Amino acid sequence: MAYNLSNLVLDHLKGLSPYSSARDEFSERAEIYLDANENPFSPYGRYPDPSHLELRKSLSALRKVSTENILIGNGSDELIDLLLRLVVRPGRDKVLYFTPTYGMYRVSAEIAGAKTLEMPLSVDFNLPLGPTLERILKDPDLKVVFLCSPNNPTGNTLPKEEVRQILSSTSALVVVDEAYADFAKESSLDLLETYENLVVLQTFSKAFGLAAARLGMAYASKELIAYLRRIKPPYNVSTFSQSLALERLKSYETVTEQIQKIIKERQRLEKALAKLPSVLHVYPSEANFLLVEFSESKEVFQYLLSRSIVVRDRSKEVPRALRITVGTPKENNQLLSALKKYNA
Ligand code: PMP
Repeated sequence: MAYNLSNLVLDHLKGLSPYSSARDEFSERAEIYLDANENPFSPYGRYPDPSHLELRKSLSALRKVSTENILIGNGSDELIDLLLRLVVRPGRDKVLYFTPTYGMYRVSAEIAGAKTLEMPLSVDFNLPLGPTLERILKDPDLKVVFLCSPNNPTGNTLPKEEVRQILSSTSALVVVDEAYADFAKESSLDLLETYENLVVLQTFSKAFGLAAARLGMAYASKELIAYLRRIKPPYNVSTFSQSLALERLKSYETVTEQIQKIIKERQRLEKALAKLPSVLHVYPSEANFLLVEFSESKEVFQYLLSRSIVVRDRSKEVPRALRITVGTPKENNQLLSALKKYNA
């Protein structure tokens, strides 16, 4: 069965008439605002732009994607949740993702009542392509497939040819989560024109340095974006967050400089870690973190904690592995010197 958005969208949401504020309809003519029961005396009294238009225009220029193909969410976490709520029939539909990966695919899928299908990535963290996956991709109850590239926590990107293969083998939505793509060489954004079932998620939380502001973006067909817009909370992104993001986009050189600095630090950290006796393996990464296999990860984790350094224990998913975010040069030096003392 070929991809068909109206087969995917839940029936009760197809006919939903969304909440609309008077300002949506009459914003161009507005001078005196007596429509939204705000406090007129406060500088922060007005509701934010529910359509995030300025921000979408700015992103459209940067990413060469039309504004109609962009939706802004309260972090990409909100977009993951909205996507699932749009298409998952609780107790019936299935959602597929490949482990180890970002934990919210499972959590949000379970909240939406989906049956979760977890397939392990291969030993080198690539997609388990083959007849089993082919069969799952053809299941008519499969509604959403999550791919994460670069993948959290493994740090590797998925080959684009394999992303294409998944997109063309299923009538489900294929979400490529590119939270870390600004640190990597490749993005799937240019596949949007070819594959209607593609959703690319990006975020302001990583390379853009605005995790505190909570802003994520979905890039997808304009039909899918229109449906998502109808079910999103009207004022999901604050005025402050929208303007912080716009400022960041205006000084995009600062973002690219910081990306370069983080990548250089990642490379330095990778080399230095690989030399430590307690380190068995540093997995190659195209993100702003490193997955590191230690001989005794639990002990190293506790030891770092005792020195006030918090890393992420991922040893349940990847044996003996800790995930370490690339910090400032000073923080990275503190980490390295602590680990050297652990070995001494
Ligand atoms: N996707 C991935 C792969 C992530 O690692 C994270 C955050 N750790 C997110 C999405 C969530 O990002 P946001 O801050 O935009 O909600």
